Amino acid sequence: MRTRITEMLGIEHPVVQGGMQWVGFAELASAVSNAGGLGILTGLTQPTPEDLIKEIDRCRAMTDKPFAVNLTILPTIKPVPYEEYAQAIVDSGVKIVETAGRNPEPFLPLFKSAGITVIHKCTSIRHSLKAERIGCDMVSVDGFECAGHPGEDDVTNMILLPLAARRLKIPFLASGGLGDGRGLAAALAMGADGINMGTRFMVTKEAPIHEKVKQAMVEASELDTSLIYRTLRNTARVFKNSIAEQVIEIEGKPGETKFEDIQPLVAGVKGRELFDTGDLDKGIWSAGMVVGLIDDIPTVEELITRIVDEAEKIINERLGSAVSV
Ligand code: NAD
Repeated sequence: MRTRITEMLGIEHPVVQGGMQWVGFAELASAVSNAGGLGILTGLTQPTPEDLIKEIDRCRAMTDKPFAVNLTILPTIKPVPYEEYAQAIVDSGVKIVETAGRNPEPFLPLFKSAGITVIHKCTSIRHSLKAERIGCDMVSVDGFECAGHPGEDDVTNMILLPLAARRLKIPFLASGGLGDGRGLAAALAMGADGINMGTRFMVTKEAPIHEKVKQAMVEASELDTSLIYRTLRNTARVFKNSIAEQVIEIEGKPGETKFEDIQPLVAGVKGRELFDTGDLDKGIWSAGMVVGLIDDIPTVEELITRIVDEAEKIINERLGSAVSV
C-alpha cells in the first residue's frame, strides 16, 4: 500500500505505533520499524533527556529503518523539562516526532529548523486544523474509542475521520479503535492515509510488558475500559480494573475532586510496576475499546502483515466486487 504517509515517512506499510508511556521502549519501536511500520519511542518513559538520547541510540542499533519519538505535553505529577527533551530529540538526529497533548507550537521552530517531520495527535477537528495552520506536517486524529486521553468532546472516529478528510489538506492517520484489517480498510475509505495503533501493539510478543497484562487484554471485551479524570477535564480511558473503579467512585462523591485525592492510585510509577510485575490491580493502565477486537498475542511482524493483507483483500475483493457488477 502506498499513501501520502508511507511516502512522507519513508515506510513500507501505512501503520504507525502510537507513543505509549512505559511501553514505547526500543524493543517495540524497532520491531514495528523493522516490520515496515513506523515505531515510536515514548520520550517521557525515559527519566531524563540524557536517558532518551541513550534509548534513541539503542533503537538505532536495533533497526536501520525510520523511527520517531513521542513528546506528550499533558499534566504530570512531577514537572517535565520539555525543552530539554525536545533538544535531545533534535541532537540525536531523529527525523520524525509525534507530539501530543497541548499545542506543540512553541517547539515547532526547533523541530522545523532541524528538518523534522511533526505529527501532532489531535482529538478534535478544531485542534487538527490548528495543527495544520501552525505548520505540523500531519496529524493523528484520535477518536473517542482511543486509549489514554481522548479529550472532552467524545466524538468517535466515524465522524472525526470524514470531517478530517473534508477539511484538512495535510495527511492524517486514524487513531483509536484500530486493530485489524477491517479498521485499516475503513480508515483509508474515510480519508485517512494510514493508522496509528497503541493498545493493539501492547498485545504483541515484543511489547515489554508482563504476559498477564497482555492476557487480560486478550480476555477483555469492548466493555472493559473506564473513563477516569472526567471531573478534572483530563479524561483518560484505561483498562477497567479495581483501581479505575475506585477512582471513579472518588470522582463521583459530592463536591469537587482534587487530583491529590486520587494521585496515589493513578501515579505513573504504579502503572510501570503493574507492567513489570503483572499485578493487574497495582495501578492504572491506558487501554482502548479495541481490546474487544484483540484475541491473540502475535509478533509485531505477524500482526502488521496480517492487518495489511486483510485490508488489501477487503479492498480488492469485498469492496471491489460490490461495485463491479
Ligand atoms: P504521571 O505519573 O505524572 O501522572 C499520572 C496521571 O495523572 C497522568 O494521566 C496525568 O495526566 C494525570 N495527572 C497528573 N497530574 C495531574 C493534575 N494535576 N490534574 C489532572 N491529572 C493529572 O504521568 P505518567 O503516567 O508518568 O505519564 C506521563 C505523561 O504521559 C502524562 O502527561 C500522561 O498524561 C501522559 N500519558 C498519555 C497517555 C495517552 O494519551 N495515551 C497515556 C499515558 C500517559
